[in-house]
Amino acid sequence: DIEIPESHPRYQSLLTRHRIEEGVEKGITSRQGLIAQGRGEAFDYLLGERTIPSADEAARAAAAHLLLADHPVISVNGNVAALCPGEIVELAAAVDADIEVNLFNRTDERMRAIVDHLRDHGADEVKGLTADGRIPGIDHERAKVDADGIGSADVVVVPLEDGDRAEALGAMDKVEIVVDLNPMSRSAQVATVPIVDNIVRAVPNVTAHARDLRDAGATREELEAIVADFDADVALDAAERAIRAGGDDE
Ligand code: ATP
Ligand code: MG
Repeated sequence: DIEIPESHPRYQSLLTRHRIEEGVEKGITSRQGLIAQGRGEAFDYLLGERTIPSADEAARAAAAHLLLADHPVISVNGNVAALCPGEIVELAAAVDADIEVNLFNRTDERMRAIVDHLRDHGADEVKGLTADGRIPGIDHERAKVDADGIGSADVVVVPLEDGDRAEALGAMDKVEIVVDLNPMSRSAQVATVPIVDNIVRAVPNVTAHARDLRDAGATREELEAIVADFDADVALDAAERAIRAGGDDE
């Protein structure tokens, strides 16, 4: 085990990295997941490791979409499971969403390890093991979903999704909420709502917005107005500007 002093200027970042390492050791996160984490860290560094205002707006729009949804599903991969399992369970409870494990490198062992890990963090039912549905337009292994989960969802939250699958899901006419620190990645570009923020900050932030909107008694009309006011291209541009300015812009 490692000890990171809280006074360390990169405390949060090191803690996050350590969680991914542990995820690999437990068989939850793939080794490719380590590389994905490294890419994410680079963008987070440039953003100043904070939630920029445009990402906060995106999180609010995401919350409105989730509250309006008939059947929202949160997709979980090995990085998400390692980084914020309890926060995913809380978001699912706040917006009454299903949780589905969905892996780019699918193995039965890893699927089961992640389902168990989510249960340890309070998840009730976890979907993904049935795999009786398919996303059209991508190869067989990558296309597997649960027919009564992501297969029939109207709103999907796909944190750190691979570009190809994000594109195929978008083509299925689903509202797609993507969390990705790279505003130039295809996943962010094809999203209905791209949240350019670290997953460890974005998920609790969406939950907080959902609770606020619910507590304020927001009507369908009000939620629809929040959804309509959100512009994905404006949000992506703002994130890219913040990165180019080294976190100073927004
Ligand atoms: P493209 O979407 O352009 O096809 P990619 O999917 O091939 O790119 P990957 O390296 O597979 O890129 O995916 C990792 C993505 O997840 C990167 O865009 C990275 O910025 C993002 N990412 C990694 N860790 C986090 C995190 N903790 N929070 C948010 N985003 C993250
Ligand atoms: Mg991507």
